[in-house]
Amino acid sequence: MIPLRIKVETNADRPYVVRLRSLEAEAWDSAPTLHPSEAALKHAGPDAADYAGEGGRLRVLGIDPSKVDGDVLLVNPSRGTADRLIRSSSQHNTFLVTERCDQVCLMCSQPPKKHHFDLFPYFETAALLAPEHATIGISGGEPTLFKTELFRFLQRVLEARPDISFHVLTNGQHFDEEDLNALSHIDLGRVVWGIPLYSSDAGVHDEIVGKEGAHAQLLRNLALMCRLGAQIELRTVLMRPNADGLPGLARVIGSTLPFIRTWAVMQMENIGFGRMNWKSLFFDSSEGFELVGRSIDFVRSRGIDAWLYNFPLCTVPPEYRHLAPATISDWKRAYRVECEGCSLKEACGGFFEWHPRDHGYSRLGAVQ
Ligand code: SF4
Repeated sequence: MIPLRIKVETNADRPYVVRLRSLEAEAWDSAPTLHPSEAALKHAGPDAADYAGEGGRLRVLGIDPSKVDGDVLLVNPSRGTADRLIRSSSQHNTFLVTERCDQVCLMCSQPPKKHHFDLFPYFETAALLAPEHATIGISGGEPTLFKTELFRFLQRVLEARPDISFHVLTNGQHFDEEDLNALSHIDLGRVVWGIPLYSSDAGVHDEIVGKEGAHAQLLRNLALMCRLGAQIELRTVLMRPNADGLPGLARVIGSTLPFIRTWAVMQMENIGFGRMNWKSLFFDSSEGFELVGRSIDFVRSRGIDAWLYNFPLCTVPPEYRHLAPATISDWKRAYRVECEGCSLKEACGGFFEWHPRDHGYSRLGAVQ
């Protein structure tokens, strides 16, 4: 697995954000001037690499400097660690803005915690240092529990960096009329809001998210966001409790939510509550694909993009494989022994690193 946290040594006395430049020392004669938030490689040894910049000296341990060239780190001196907020070579950079959440979804991969540290100032610095045309993910917990800070962050970064965009994962519970002014200052053409909707049946949705009234609140807020012209990606994790209702949900999306940009039907992640409840929730879509295919077909026939996220390609009938992009982030993606020699491997997103050995799919295996 690609490490997102690395060991460092620094004489700084407080956390700071820095972008690493791993050019060899002699190449600096012709290199552009160092940005105040950058540190340049001074020496690389077998176990550590030394960087220096306006923020002071930084020693990065246990990783090849070429692998972190251009990465943006949040350095935590007291812990001797640095979080790779942005990996320059990756399309899967996400800022985890909080671990608090007001929902307790049955399959949550990141179960909520009570504590919260405001890292928005660091995220803003990091976003401004992102590679050109980056799309940065925002997730939690529930990011809109801190919506004042979130909206200000989006507005400021989008104004300063006209080339970058955001994908914000939110439960959609916390928007209201009073946000219209703040949201009107954000370039919503460069923000996609990924919002879960699990069922057209309010009882089923509320049961899955562990919050009474969540479905009704979500539908009100989707209408509000529609008025703003927000770009919405509806997300439905496929599970036993909502699988039979998928075609019904597709009909509701196609007929009453035509303004959404995308519908994503997603396979489960075996971690957090998802691992705890795996046996009662996991739906084997390699056996039961007919209702998934029917649902996708209906929504697409209404002119809305519909996709399959986190589906191993061999579990999807050939005629739907073009709708199943490799969505599992590179740092947590893995393949199984069954994948050896598979002709689809390059296009396939495989599995989450922590997917169980007895993977749950009755039909899975290398495609020749
Ligand atoms: S065998 Fe592995 S690589 Fe091939 S389609 Fe299935 S999951 Fe993907």
